[in-house]
Amino acid sequence: MEKNNVSAKEALKMLMDGNKRFVSNTLNHPRTDQARRSMLTEGQAPFAIVLSCADSRVDPNIAFDQGLGDLFVIRVAGNVARHKILGSIEYAVQHLGTQLVFVLGHEKCGAVTASMEPAEVEGHVGAIVEVIKPAVYLARHQDGGNKIFSAFSYHFFD
Ligand SMILES: [Zn+2]
Repeated sequence: MEKNNVSAKEALKMLMDGNKRFVSNTLNHPRTDQARRSMLTEGQAPFAIVLSCADSRVDPNIAFDQGLGDLFVIRVAGNVARHKILGSIEYAVQHLGTQLVFVLGHEKCGAVTASMEPAEVEGHVGAIVEVIKPAVYLARHQDGGNKIFSAFSYHFFD
């Protein structure tokens, strides 16, 4: 299977068209048949990378009405981009030719809500919250955002 050659602009339109079908309850459930599955045994060429929250209510393949092999989906609570997540995105861009990276946030995200609380969250969930807290801080202090971003930028890449 050859690399994908769908432009980022075309890919965004395909996502938005699929989301319109989702919103209007006219889902096509495209490209899930046996022929598609057989084709995908040769390789993959997804037209978009989607970084989404792991929240069960936010499933990119359903929300964008796409089929097997269409989306390179990475899901993690709070859709935070850390090393392994960035590595997955990098793989799809470099090796599969995918040109659009779409970050899908959502309302009432538990990870973001926890990040807005002053209390420290323990365990591995706390590690996710610590990545989001600088963004919460920036949003609350919009006027001095650029200076504050420098102070917290290491959180995004360590
Ligand atoms: Zn969420």
